[in-house]
Amino acid sequence: MGGTEQKYVNEAFDTNWVAPKGPNLDAFEKELQQYLGEKYHVAALNSGTAAIHLALLLAGVQQGDEVLCQSFTFAATANPIVYLKALPVFIDSESSTWNLCPELLEEAIIDRISRGKKPKAMLIVDLYGMPAQMDAITSIAEKYHIVLIEDAAEALGSVFKGKVCGSFGDFGIFSFNGNKIITTSGGGALITKNKKIKEKAIYLASQACDTASHYEHSEIGYNYRMSNITAGIGQGQLEVLEDRIKRRRANFDYYHTELASESTIQFLEEPNGCFSNRWLTTIVLPSLEHREKIRLSLASENIESRPLWKPMHLQPVFKNYPNYCNGKSEKLFQTGLCVPSGSNLTERQLNNICRIIKNC
Ligand SMILES: *Cc1c(COP(=O)(O)O)cnc(C)c1O
Repeated sequence: MGGTEQKYVNEAFDTNWVAPKGPNLDAFEKELQQYLGEKYHVAALNSGTAAIHLALLLAGVQQGDEVLCQSFTFAATANPIVYLKALPVFIDSESSTWNLCPELLEEAIIDRISRGKKPKAMLIVDLYGMPAQMDAITSIAEKYHIVLIEDAAEALGSVFKGKVCGSFGDFGIFSFNGNKIITTSGGGALITKNKKIKEKAIYLASQACDTASHYEHSEIGYNYRMSNITAGIGQGQLEVLEDRIKRRRANFDYYHTELASESTIQFLEEPNGCFSNRWLTTIVLPSLEHREKIRLSLASENIESRPLWKPMHLQPVFKNYPNYCNGKSEKLFQTGLCVPSGSNLTERQLNNICRIIKNC
């Protein structure tokens, strides 16, 4: 925590706004909107997953529709597609950002159309905080008139060509889960450029109550709104976002400098125009054996590290859905490792981790 979160939480208790409604919630949404820019509207929700679910619903995705989805991601990107009984179509990554490959995306769109079904939406991720190739991706979305949803759950604070991540799609998503760069313990946000859509999102997230003195419902609703308590945590956390980005980027720079002489270790560099919040620092080794040797050596000293995300097209629960793959994400899964990346790592801890990695 940064220090001021408790003040906002106490205000919620002092004023008895202990509900999914109240001044902290309004203020948190406003602050996020200011961060994004005047033309954006924000609905604060109780998770990033809920935000993706509502984005798909508001995009009109229905049972049997196809949704294009980056395969190299966390399962929460793809799960909401299946909540709606729609069908994910997984697309592999390109090497410069590890995010969705625009060439494969277009190939998949053309192929899906030729099979008789045009995809309803596409879900693009800014994985590990690295912005996806948004120029190419947004122009493909426009060319084929397909709704673009940007899953920026890991990329709050990242920027692509002067524009912040979360602001590229028809919908954007943030997560404030406990593991993200800033947190409300659990929480998320849906971003849109349309005020009516924001209002609709809040209506759906608050049990879809129609205007009436009694409880009247003409649509199925959800209980997805953020609490006024956790919004207070979010207000305090936004005050330290810049600091957290600095620290995460300093972690990356430390690893990069310390391990630069190891020709077997590769880093994900920032392509031109990309500014990453460096949520997690990742390294890529020549083989699975190299990767496991490092992971197990760290574990033997009680230091946690973790393989990169296992692509969705290889997950037991998703393996029967169509995919358009080039082997990139599978290779990254086998040879990549997320190294300790917390905002509170000390130089001594970083030094120790680098020593263990070098010994391997
Ligand atoms: C964390 C995460 C989510 C889900 O967010 P929650 O707030 O945990 O529901 C979605 N997509 C990605 C890429 C994530 O990392």
